[in-house]
Amino acid sequence: MRRSIVVFLAIVIAIQVLPAQPQAKKLPHIVILATGGTIAGSADTKTSVGYTSGAVTVDALIQAVPTLKEIARITGEQISSIGSQDMSDEVWLKLAKRVNAVLASDSVDGVVITHGTDTMEETAYFLQLVVKSKKPVVLTGSMRPSTALSADGPLNIYNAVAIAGDPQASGRGVLVAANDDIHGGRDLTKGNTTDVQTFISPEYGLVGTTLYGKQTFFRGPFRKHTSDSEFSIEGVNALPRVDVLYAHANMSADMIDAAVKAGAKGIVMAGVGDGNMTTPALEALARAVKAGVVCVRSSRVPTGRTWRNSEINDDQYGFVASGELQPAKARVLLQLALMKTKDAKQIQTMFETY
Ligand code: ASP
Repeated sequence: MRRSIVVFLAIVIAIQVLPAQPQAKKLPHIVILATGGTIAGSADTKTSVGYTSGAVTVDALIQAVPTLKEIARITGEQISSIGSQDMSDEVWLKLAKRVNAVLASDSVDGVVITHGTDTMEETAYFLQLVVKSKKPVVLTGSMRPSTALSADGPLNIYNAVAIAGDPQASGRGVLVAANDDIHGGRDLTKGNTTDVQTFISPEYGLVGTTLYGKQTFFRGPFRKHTSDSEFSIEGVNALPRVDVLYAHANMSADMIDAAVKAGAKGIVMAGVGDGNMTTPALEALARAVKAGVVCVRSSRVPTGRTWRNSEINDDQYGFVASGELQPAKARVLLQLALMKTKDAKQIQTMFETY
């Protein structure tokens, strides 16, 4: 009896005297969904210009950045192994459904998507419109293949994982992490064919910046997105065909007529200036509207809005004006809009909302 009292007192004293053990910090659980791209690219030498996109697996990408273990618990999944020039509606639907499924789990804190930079802005905007979660979704890629001298992929992945695990990133829509910058999923565009500093957000600026996984956020998205979006891809297996046509001096009606004949449900015109086009092209676009094709005027100019009823009377022609959405992103929104309506006025409202 006396012995047990002594043991009890010894335990009480030890608890008082010994320094409290620091509680192990619970790391966020981040799922990396890999789609391919230069970040998973492989070249014959460290300085080759030529390389193959999407040759490296998600496991190899994760292993190349051992310090990830210090900031997150990582699970990797391979969605596709393609250069993003081959990104398709099919892969988008597979990816978006997987993002929604993964984020619905209480055990997951955020998603990182590795992706080629060529069409990253389109995928980011697509996800911005169809992901149903406020948890962070961060896309990243690289301009140099994984085998290159000074490959930019490993730090981009590290930063993307840090952002995806950062509670401050929640509710800011889909983000893109590249070269220490954080872009909004609606805002970014690829600005240089090969430069490591390729992405710019010319109209709205950056959402934030990061330095070795430490974030500073400046703002959130200005438009509706993710959980507040009316668009859903639940049960959807295909998206309507929308073609983008590039306007130029002396443009004929031929490409517009061909798009209608090929079955396009929507056409986005990458117009000159404020969404303008030659008279034959304008007449062909008006014919397309009469044939039931929804036509959006956008611009091939890298910055600025395409204004409704400026030099072209959209009310009269039944066109939609894209605002500051560039042609590739206008195509994404039109594809989703066409699943709800063919009414140009309602679609115009969507262009002002998203
Ligand atoms: N063509 C590549 C891709 O988009 C380029 C890159 O990833 O930087 O997949």
